[in-house]
Amino acid sequence: MKYISTRGQIAPVGFKDAVMMGLATDGGLLLPEQIPAIDAATLASWKSLPYRELAFAIISRYADDIPPADLQRLINRSYDSFTHPEITPVVNKDGVHILELFHGPTLAFKDVALQLLGNLFEYLLKERGERMNIVGATSGDTGSAAIYGVRGKENINIFILHPNGKTSKIQALQMTTVTDPNVQNIAVEGTFDDCQDMVKALFNDLPFKEKYALGAVNSINWARVLAQVVYYFYAWFRVAEQTDQQELVFAVPTGNFGDIFAGYVAKRMGLPIKSLLLATNENNILTRFINSGDYSIGKVVATVSPSMDIQVASNFERYLYYLFNEDAGRLRAAFATFAKTGRMEFTAEELKRVRAEFSSCTIDQAGTLKTIADFHRKTGYLLDPHTAVGVGAALEKVKGLPVICLATAHPAKFPDAVKQATGVEPPQPKSIQGIDKLPSRCTVMAADLAKVKAFIMEKAC
Ligand SMILES: *Cc1c(COP(=O)(O)O)cnc(C)c1O
Repeated sequence: MKYISTRGQIAPVGFKDAVMMGLATDGGLLLPEQIPAIDAATLASWKSLPYRELAFAIISRYADDIPPADLQRLINRSYDSFTHPEITPVVNKDGVHILELFHGPTLAFKDVALQLLGNLFEYLLKERGERMNIVGATSGDTGSAAIYGVRGKENINIFILHPNGKTSKIQALQMTTVTDPNVQNIAVEGTFDDCQDMVKALFNDLPFKEKYALGAVNSINWARVLAQVVYYFYAWFRVAEQTDQQELVFAVPTGNFGDIFAGYVAKRMGLPIKSLLLATNENNILTRFINSGDYSIGKVVATVSPSMDIQVASNFERYLYYLFNEDAGRLRAAFATFAKTGRMEFTAEELKRVRAEFSSCTIDQAGTLKTIADFHRKTGYLLDPHTAVGVGAALEKVKGLPVICLATAHPAKFPDAVKQATGVEPPQPKSIQGIDKLPSRCTVMAADLAKVKAFIMEKAC
């Protein structure tokens, strides 16, 4: 299996190189040259596979340059850190199927991908005799999942910048209580944008990037998307069996379009997904695009679902590549226009195809809190505010078909919103009980690029 760039200007690379490359060197995103088609007989044979074996069946079709025994071992190790025997179980609450993706070490769905990515990095670095210093900025969820993905791993150091005092308390503790020597938390006296600007500047300093072998873990890495394809299959099997129906809808709370793009890949592989419901909060550029063809950038609004407070979704480029019939020239032109005008234009035929695959709906802050409250009253089940955006959208838009709602975080990760909506303090899973009493390590630093650089130079591997 070879990987190409959405921008069409790199020579095809294998899976291992695609993982190490992250962003394609021509500025595009990597995609498999061909998405493998799964026929009905193969699909039927996967029906009863446990999660780890299903993950191997799917991932091995894309990662054919890793010996099968090694790949299965990497997959097994990645999901041994999950606390639920099914890894991503599906629960039925009053007819709504909730796909719980939060049983990993940091209680959010990003663990599903970042546990695997951390193990892949370690394996590939060892094979190549190389090292990597991961540098990233986080407003909360990605940072902790990335830290847990690589803690204690060989030949990898990780430096995560977060805005001091501006993440939730639990999010900060999940990062700073990881005291492995290869983990460095930097609490920047500034905003998330300050953190992100400094990280961008570090990556743009090419001699520095080379010398310290800087690496990224953001959601554009193909391995992250691939790991997420697995749970669409897993959940589909569970719910198809339970409901005796094949045509299922997935409701996906969306920020960077990574999670929902994994669903699109599953659909293209041949999983009979009827439609993907893309749910947004007030940051709804993607909903405007699907419902009215208006893809124009707006201002980022802060909401109770902060991990979806994103305007320009980086993974959307992968979908556009398919929408433009794999025409990299058309894609480059569309992005050139977007950079100039902040808008992208689509033909009527393209929009028709978008709507055949996706539907979309915005659930605003009031709607999110109301969904948490109503759902709790009806079922006794607590939704986190991100999951609630998807459930709210499903209840509003999906009639007469089974719907699987992706639960992207555990409610205890966002206790303030849950308490505001229901008056109930969500019970804490073991992994965060007493977390405020654990030893922690964190370096507070001014938003000063030179200081951050000096710190990385001192601690780099
Ligand atoms: C990252 C995140 C999302 C958004 O996922 P994307 O892949 O960026 O669309 C939704 N919910 C939670 C809890 C997250 O951490």
